[in-house]
Amino acid sequence: MAIRVLAPEVAAKIAAGEVVERPASVVKELIENSIDAEATEIKVEVRQGGKRLIRVIDNGFGIPAGDVETALTSRYSTSKLEKVEDLSHIKTLGFRGEALTSIAAVSRLTIVTRAADEEIGTFMRLEGGKILNREGRGCPKGTVVTVENLFYNVPARLKFLRSEATERRYIDFLISRYALAYPEIRFSLLSDGRLTLQTMGSGDLYDVLIEVYGMEVAEQMLEVSGEEEIRVAGYISAPHLHRSSRNHISFFVNRRWVQDRMLSYAVEEAYHTLLPSERHPIVVLNVELSPLMVDVNVHPTKREIKFLKRDDVFVAVQKAVRRTLKEKAPVPSLALRPDLERRRRLVEVGRRRRRRVEMALEVQRTAEVEKIAPLTLPRMGKLPPLRVLGQLAQTYIIAEGPEGMYLIDQHTAHERVLYDKLMAERERVASSSQALLEPLTLELSSNQAAVVEDSMEILKELGFEIEPFGGGTYLVRAVPSMLTESDIAKSILEIIDELKEAGTGKAREEMAVISLVCHSAVKAGKVLSIEEMKELVRQLEETSLPHTCPHGRPTMIHLSQAQLEREFRRR
Ligand code: ADP
Ligand code: MG
Repeated sequence: MAIRVLAPEVAAKIAAGEVVERPASVVKELIENSIDAEATEIKVEVRQGGKRLIRVIDNGFGIPAGDVETALTSRYSTSKLEKVEDLSHIKTLGFRGEALTSIAAVSRLTIVTRAADEEIGTFMRLEGGKILNREGRGCPKGTVVTVENLFYNVPARLKFLRSEATERRYIDFLISRYALAYPEIRFSLLSDGRLTLQTMGSGDLYDVLIEVYGMEVAEQMLEVSGEEEIRVAGYISAPHLHRSSRNHISFFVNRRWVQDRMLSYAVEEAYHTLLPSERHPIVVLNVELSPLMVDVNVHPTKREIKFLKRDDVFVAVQKAVRRTLKEKAPVPSLALRPDLERRRRLVEVGRRRRRRVEMALEVQRTAEVEKIAPLTLPRMGKLPPLRVLGQLAQTYIIAEGPEGMYLIDQHTAHERVLYDKLMAERERVASSSQALLEPLTLELSSNQAAVVEDSMEILKELGFEIEPFGGGTYLVRAVPSMLTESDIAKSILEIIDELKEAGTGKAREEMAVISLVCHSAVKAGKVLSIEEMKELVRQLEETSLPHTCPHGRPTMIHLSQAQLEREFRRR
């Protein structure tokens, strides 16, 4: 086929496809324009998951009458960028100047806008990018863009849209992300006539957290704040609060919502050993750094970015999260529960009304006034000095601290102690190993043998000396010194089986460590002397993260003085 230049309408539709993939992409572009226009209130209205209609209303500075046509019909028309050099220090969300034109090319679009310093606004209606009519019109300052029948002229795209419910979910999620990034803007979403989101625009991220995630989750979030050159700030969930997917890890870079594997990875590294496997935290973090250090012009949707110094950003995020967890992660508290129950009920009541956010805050205020909720969450990283009193059910150590009673799970606590010890040893050289007086023979299935062969290096590093003896027989000559207490053969077989499940590479290495620690730790059901318990608690106090074991289970629960007094009706 001969090479031909595409007709402008065809080219426009192809280009539009890069920016506009689904209704949520339209919402995104329109909201970003409203934010760039310094709006303090952004109302979004959608019908049928945005397939039928999307409307974004803002009170921003509007478009001057003379510029409306250009903005809607010429690609690469923007007021936000002049020279190539400007690209390196972009402060606005938009700069490519192609969104409005792209959206107009694949829908029926109406705009009503008035610039702050003009008397009369502009009304313009387009279909497939062609202007149908325009007129001057009196209207409030700001901009209303209405997009109807998206993709009506691009059947291929239309076909790929998902169900209304799914498209609606994308939009919901998107708007709540922008609400989290811009707490000072009042956002609302009206979906088929129902108000599904409404933020106050108070400027306080915590208020938006309550609206988006509910009171109960918000209460369990820890505030991250940083003052470094790469400033990381926002909220992260306490380790006992987690989700099955990574969807709730939200990142903003200079308040631009971005998707970046590296950033999520930095967070997950920081939570390492604090969460059960396959569980993920809830995270809302903004990374603030000089615009010169980021390239936002990587992709038309601007969801991907490039950092000039990736490693620095990684370390900054990981450090900020780790520090917050160390300093603020609470001991799961018994005392928390009755409060939560009460608050949950109150919040439920509020939810049935429209004023959800206001209600939740009212609840909080009443709670403060009535002093019904003496929050006994000890917000600290290190343990307070504890005095061991005895053992319960041969499993829990009872201890007293300045803030009440602590029940410590002897097994998980010991796991944490051993884990820290092992990691410290591995950093130095090899872990300490103990030769067996007589080698131990293991009969392995071919499956188990394969795992051992594959994991030889890490097993050796941990202090195992295992060698093949022909067939499925293996000789164990030495084991990690921490393992000596238990039935060694049985433990090794169990560790091998756990390794089998763990995949390869880093995951397997990780599993080897955790599994070894678990098999070495003192079991529930074992009687401990007061001296042994004291020693365990002392060692636990020295660990980096004393509140959870490496699997992410709690090592202790706390019954506060206040809670005891309440239970005994002493006040
Ligand atoms: P970009 O945002 O990349 O500049 P767009 O196509 O999204 O490109 O918008 C084109 C131009 O139209 C913007 O640069 C801005 O001047 C103007 N504009 C679009 N939406 C609004 C709005 N809601 N309020 C004020 N100006 C707007
Ligand atoms: Mg834009």
